[in-house]
Amino acid sequence: MDDCLFCKIIRSELPSHKIYEDEKVLVILDINPWTRGHCLVFPKKHIRNIFEADTNTLSHLILAAQKISLLVKEKLGAEGINILQNNNRLAGQIVDHIHFHIIPRYKDNSLQISHSTDYQGNDLKEVVKLLTGNR
Ligand code: 5GP
Ligand code: ZN
Repeated sequence: MDDCLFCKIIRSELPSHKIYEDEKVLVILDINPWTRGHCLVFPKKHIRNIFEADTNTLSHLILAAQKISLLVKEKLGAEGINILQNNNRLAGQIVDHIHFHIIPRYKDNSLQISHSTDYQGNDLKEVVKLLTGNR
């Protein structure tokens, strides 16, 4: 896509800090890192998000995400990793080219990714029914 930020980075029309590249995938440092070594893993093919991704691309992406996780663990001493992937504006997707965030976690890090939520729903049976069509 001509005006896509990540496509421009792939074509080297915009600068980036490249960490890894193969024929299908590019990994760069996030320009606004949440922690040290925050990487973005994305395909060279322009795909908007998870809803539009094909099996082949997704397989490559998740394997590259694992490779970078291991790299960051070994070379930067990360003791944990969060992998985040946003889809659509409501979920915080800003760049419309599918990408996984690899967010290294360190002991002294103040980053909070919390399990707590205001959501009070307890209609689990109804949700199962809607998602599976039975029970
Ligand atoms: P999203 O919110 O779409 O999941 O994440 C987009 C990410 O891209 C953000 O974390 C943001 O910091 C990063 N980003 C935005 N513009 C650039 C850029 O020009 N270069 C790099 N390396 N990262 C960018
Ligand atoms: Zn793109």
